[in-house]
Amino acid sequence: MSGHGPRATGDWPQAAGADGSRHLIVQADHVSRVFEMPSGDVVAVRDVSLDIAAGDYVAVQGPSGCGKSTLLHMLGCVDTPSTGSLLFEGRDVAALSDRERSLLRLRSIGFVFQRFFLLPMLTAAENVELPQSEAGVAAAARQARTRELLHYVGLAARADHRPSQLSGGEMQRVAIARALANTPRLLLADEPTGELDQATGQHVADLLDRVNRDGTALVIVTHDTTLAARASRVVLLRDGSVEREETR
Ligand code: ADP
Ligand code: MG
Repeated sequence: MSGHGPRATGDWPQAAGADGSRHLIVQADHVSRVFEMPSGDVVAVRDVSLDIAAGDYVAVQGPSGCGKSTLLHMLGCVDTPSTGSLLFEGRDVAALSDRERSLLRLRSIGFVFQRFFLLPMLTAAENVELPQSEAGVAAAARQARTRELLHYVGLAARADHRPSQLSGGEMQRVAIARALANTPRLLLADEPTGELDQATGQHVADLLDRVNRDGTALVIVTHDTTLAARASRVVLLRDGSVEREETR
């Protein structure tokens, strides 16, 4: 680990084990997602196979409507495949109860969205504390972790601000701190720079780089070519299928 993070990660295996094997976080095997609509079935994701390993930095790209968000929701165990199988650290996500699935998300997966989705009535610190409260972390530990995370994202001085008192870039940095609150193994981001101007977007991209270097696997859906250029793997989707996968 690069050492500057507030233990953004835990002690789970890093990208390659001593024997060179990859610690797989997500294994999506021939996954499809079909939405049944009155006007007919919509195949949002079609027969996608994709592995995400510890330490990975994957960008998902493709035209609007090609299934990027739907795929991300399945990788993040928010949604389950219509067909195919999705394993999260070896567990079949479709076989979990709703409660098991929400606990898995709470403890192992962080989400960052284009529109931040911070709770407007809570301060930056309270927003970062919330997922820790939900995970049952005691108040003192929660507050210490929150301070550490706000420092990590460069917002120690904004702890008491509500979202309306923050800039877009600051809101996104709080959202990243919130996503890291329970030290997830996997951070998923859907167009995280989509609402930001270029300079602010770069700042957020730098922060996401650091999160990845500190050991959290990252999957980012983005139209932003400079953001995608930072990824070590790019998955290009078209009409729900993987058109191309590039490794750098
Ligand atoms: P992207 O994120 O690449 O823009 P989405 O994954 O949001 O694409 O959507 C892929 C396709 O699936 C689109 O045609 C969209 O209209 C459809 N879709 C997404 N979510 C739903 C849903 N909940 N119900 C029905 N259709 C959906
Ligand atoms: Mg989308």
